Amino acid sequence: MNSQRTPLVAGNWKMHGSLEGNTVLLAEVVKGAGLFGRAQVAVCVPFPYLAQAKSLLAATPVRWGAQNVSEHTHGAYTGEVSCAMLKDFGCRYVIVGHSERRQFFGETDVWVTRKVQAAFAHGLVPILCVGERLEERDAGRTDRIVTEQTEMATGELSSEQVVNLVVAYEPVWAIGTGRSATGEEANRVTGLIRRALGRRSGGASAQTRILYGGSVTPDNAAEVFGQPEIDGGLIGGASLDAGKFTAIVRAASRERGNL
Ligand code: PEP
Repeated sequence: MNSQRTPLVAGNWKMHGSLEGNTVLLAEVVKGAGLFGRAQVAVCVPFPYLAQAKSLLAATPVRWGAQNVSEHTHGAYTGEVSCAMLKDFGCRYVIVGHSERRQFFGETDVWVTRKVQAAFAHGLVPILCVGERLEERDAGRTDRIVTEQTEMATGELSSEQVVNLVVAYEPVWAIGTGRSATGEEANRVTGLIRRALGRRSGGASAQTRILYGGSVTPDNAAEVFGQPEIDGGLIGGASLDAGKFTAIVRAASRERGNL
């Protein structure tokens, strides 16, 4: 692994949480922070809980972010939330192009591209999600789909932005299904993403953090994070359980040799 690629484990809470439950969960995650080692940790919470995340996490090593953002700066876009609003609430990260947004809300590659650009323009770090659906995998189209999604979303980025970008390889068939990709499979596709990014950025992608997401648990975390191309994880279900989330973070640190 490139020494500049500090491992990152980010929780994606999806549409889960409550003020009361979050207080307990975040307190437990923060309590585990002393054991995180080299890995950086973030939680991507639903919009209404950003203020709570800011107030509970500001003085801790845990960063926070959102799960979606508008590509527009402001205006008559009912129900949307802008990058500047996320910045107001101290977000560092925003997930862009999650497969659930693509599948249930019709987000296209063009849309995802604009959101990535908007995030960078406002000083947010996009966590760009790419990944193939089961039928695409079965048809042998994984490499093409993932390469196209990556190239589309990042084609306009500067080398510096490519360095700061976070990509999450999330095979759609592995999300929330309990069926994770093998470490070897995830590593191969992650390497492909890095090469696709590198072709457009003069090799800047050697420094880009590429995460794996899809049914990561404490049981398979070491296998996933032991892969040389994989720099951490985007964690859905297991991020709602402080014990599991903390164990996954520790595995990321351990596999990078400092725990
Ligand atoms: C996700 O939603 O990004 C995800 C990886 O979910 P899970 O860990 O539950 O598969």
